[in-house]
Amino acid sequence: MPGDKIFLRDGSRIAIIGGGPAGCFFANFALRQARLRGIKVHVTIFEGRDFTRADHQACNMSVGVLAERLREKLDWQGITIPQRCIQAEIQGYQFFTQDDYMSLEHPVPGHRPRIVSVFRGGGPVHSHMKEDVSFDHFLLRFVEGQGAQVIKGGVKDIVLPGHPEGKVSLMFGNGEELEADLVVGAFGVNTPTGDIFARMHFGYVPPKTLKTCIVDARLGRDFIKEHYRDNIYVFALGTDEVEFASFTPKGDYLTIGLVGKRDISTPELRGFLNHPVVKKALPQGTEVLKDCCVCFPRIPVGPAHQPYWDRLVVVGDAGISRSYKNGVESAFMTSYLATNTVFERGLSREALKGGYYEPAIKLIARDNFYGRLVFKAFSLITSQRQILSERLYYAYAHREKWIADRLNAALWNLVTGDAAYKEVFKELFHPRLQFALLPVTLEGLVRQILGMKKKRNL
Ligand SMILES: Cc1cc2nc3c(=O)[nH]c(=O)nc-3n(C[C@H](O)[C@H](O)[C@H](O)COP(=O)(O)OP(=O)(O)OC[C@H]3O[C@@H](n4cnc5c(N)ncnc54)[C@H](O)[C@@H]3O)c2cc1C
Repeated sequence: MPGDKIFLRDGSRIAIIGGGPAGCFFANFALRQARLRGIKVHVTIFEGRDFTRADHQACNMSVGVLAERLREKLDWQGITIPQRCIQAEIQGYQFFTQDDYMSLEHPVPGHRPRIVSVFRGGGPVHSHMKEDVSFDHFLLRFVEGQGAQVIKGGVKDIVLPGHPEGKVSLMFGNGEELEADLVVGAFGVNTPTGDIFARMHFGYVPPKTLKTCIVDARLGRDFIKEHYRDNIYVFALGTDEVEFASFTPKGDYLTIGLVGKRDISTPELRGFLNHPVVKKALPQGTEVLKDCCVCFPRIPVGPAHQPYWDRLVVVGDAGISRSYKNGVESAFMTSYLATNTVFERGLSREALKGGYYEPAIKLIARDNFYGRLVFKAFSLITSQRQILSERLYYAYAHREKWIADRLNAALWNLVTGDAAYKEVFKELFHPRLQFALLPVTLEGLVRQILGMKKKRNL
């Protein structure tokens, strides 16, 4: 390793493009690894947003639920989310279909989930937060405290060296330039920076994306506490436009998140808000879209092509991310794998392929295949009202039984992201479960064909 120019050495510089979760996690791991090895590595993060402001430009748009698995990982790194950033400590989930709803419980009886909701920016548009509530700003300050340098402003261009021993040049600000031994792309999927990487012609193609929708509606802290009781509401209404939707309590605000099979825009949002089940779950007579904060961010629905090259690696959403769930945790995992690789195996494309890309694809992208199967099956079942109703009623009525516990566990793991999609798939399609549900499924099918409706509250 000593003398090998394609490794990080004492005095090397890492330039990270993007100070969202992936960029901050990479900086955290890199600074720790360098300390462990007794070398000094300069870490510079470029970030275009000012997370302290309360507007769209200041926010890495997300529903902002931080799952238990992520919190365990943050604990391991000594990263404690300050109380001022926590908007709600989530107690549980309520699962709504067209006809029924059920409370989902943690599969381990008596376990209190450590799930919290946060704002990613300085709060919704027009909000006046008394404190700095931004989770992303907290992370950025945390890694600054560890020794990272933060440069405010966007990277405009990147020039790769002519040979692997040369440095990478980054252009930013008013014609300023910085040379780095390693460039980390942690730029997400909601800016045009992916095009800069694609234009370098080393093979990077940004992930395919879908347009989603997020609304922060100001309903008032008391109303939210009283009605939602720190529960997340999940809606699977079997409509064509919206596959999954959620209500997440956050202090004075209720965050409404929508994900569809296709891009979501205002008509789909209005259609969802006018659905009778949704209307019932909102305060009567309130125009939710009045004075609210609405955005339509993109989520990745597949991995990027070739997110690595000599001295260059792309992590987080812009690289490889879990579909629909736990994006911040994927940012953590991809940054962890990538940092270990650059310190242990080096900065060459071969090292990054074997140490980062292939394991990340195995861990995240292959699991997304099962995720797609689960969501497809779910979409099909939720659109069959009577069948779904019979199956959910069965789960409720037999709560103490193995079958009911299994269904509850599968749904819990699906909505929280606590288990890999492969595990959820195995739970949902367990032969014993499917066999037990067969009679009620057939009953539901017959009712559906005959147009007979059986309404129950679960
Ligand atoms: C509707 C929706 C709901 C979601 N809900 C959740 C949830 O509840 N929980 C969860 O864990 N995840 C959720 N996610 C996913 C989560 O937001 C992302 O996975 C996560 O933010 C990815 O982190 P990142 O750092 O890779 O990218 P980002 O968070 O997008 O950060 C990228 C950063 O790079 C900066 N940047 C880009 N280009 C440049 C440049 N040229 N120069 C300087 N800076 C640049 C941007 O300003 C930004 O700050 C949700 C996403 C959506 C769309």
